[in-house]
Amino acid sequence: MATKTLEDIPGVGPAIAEKLREAGYTELMTIAVASPKDLSETCEIGEKKAMDIIEGAKLCADIGGFETGDAILERRKSVSKLSTGSKAFDDLLGGGLESQAITEFFGEFGSCKTQVCFQLAVNATLPEDKGGLDSDVIMLDSENTFRPERVIQMANYLGVDPEETLKRIHVARAFNSQHQILLVDKAIELAKDRKIRLMIVDSLTSHFRAEYLGRGALAERQQILNRHMHDLLNFATLNNAVIAVTNQVAAKPDAFFGDPTRPIGGHVVGHTATFRIYLRKGKAGKRIARLIDSPSLPEGEAVFSVTEDGIKD
Ligand code: ADP
Ligand code: MG
Repeated sequence: MATKTLEDIPGVGPAIAEKLREAGYTELMTIAVASPKDLSETCEIGEKKAMDIIEGAKLCADIGGFETGDAILERRKSVSKLSTGSKAFDDLLGGGLESQAITEFFGEFGSCKTQVCFQLAVNATLPEDKGGLDSDVIMLDSENTFRPERVIQMANYLGVDPEETLKRIHVARAFNSQHQILLVDKAIELAKDRKIRLMIVDSLTSHFRAEYLGRGALAERQQILNRHMHDLLNFATLNNAVIAVTNQVAAKPDAFFGDPTRPIGGHVVGHTATFRIYLRKGKAGKRIARLIDSPSLPEGEAVFSVTEDGIKD
C-alpha cells in the first residue's frame, strides 16, 4: 500500500504539515473529517486555507469503498475460532475468539488478563480440531509479565511438547508506546515467513496511559491509539488472525457498571475492538467473564477458573 502523507495535500508544505501534526492531525483521514473552524483555530491558519486543506485531504485519503454483503459473507467463511480453554467461556464467545477481529479483555489488576493471554498463546499452537489455529504466536509484552514457566505448565497439561510450544511464541518487550506501534510493523514482516494467526498485546494501553498525561494530551493519545488499533485490525485481516488485547481498568467498584467508558482509551478501543470482555474475580477463586457489545452475540457471563494447568471451566 502506497501511503500518502500530509505533504501530499496540495498547498501543504513542511511548515503547515508540522503545525498540523503538532495539533494532532497526523493522519489524512483525521484532516478529511475535521471541521474547517477547528482546523483553522488549532493550527492558526485562515479558515479558507483550512477548507482547502480539508478538501485536499479528502482527495488524498483512502476513504475506502463499498463491499457487497455476499463478498463479506464469503470472507467470513474463513473465520476461525480460537479456544480459551474453558467450554463456558468459549460458548459465551460463540465458540471462541474470532479471527479477523480484535478481542479486548479488560479488568482490574489481577483479574487474570495475562493468564488468559498465556492460555491463548499455548492454544493457538494446537491443531484446529483441538481448538487451536495451528500457528505461531506474536506477543507484545508491555509490562514484562511474559513467563515461559507458565507456558510450560499449560503445555504439559495439554500433553504437548513445552519446548516446541515456546519456540512458536515470539515475544517482544515494548518499551514505550512508539516502540509498541513499530513492533506491529515487525510483526507484519515476521508473518511473511511463517504462519502467525494470533497476536497478543498485553497490555494495549499501559504505555499510552503513562505517556499521555492530562486532558491536553487526550486527543493526541486517542488518535495514536486509534491508528494502532487499525494497524492491528489490518494484521488480523491480512493473516486471518485473532488479535487479543488487554486493558487495565481502575480498581473501583463502579469501574465497569457505573461507567462503561472507563477503560483506558474508552471510545477508541471500544469502537475498534469487535469483542469486549470484562474480567473480574468471583467467589472461591472463580473468575467471571462478561461479554459486552458484540455485533452478533447476546450479552452474557461465563464462569471459569485459573489453575496451575491453565484456564478451565
Ligand atoms: P492481570 O494480568 O489481569 O493483572 P494476571 O493474569 O497476572 O492478572 O493474574 C494473576 C492471577 O493469576 C493470580 O492472582 C492468580 O490467581 C492467577 N495465577 C497466576 N499464576 C498461577 C498459577 N501458577 N496457578 C494458579 N493461578 C495462577
Ligand atoms: Mg497482566
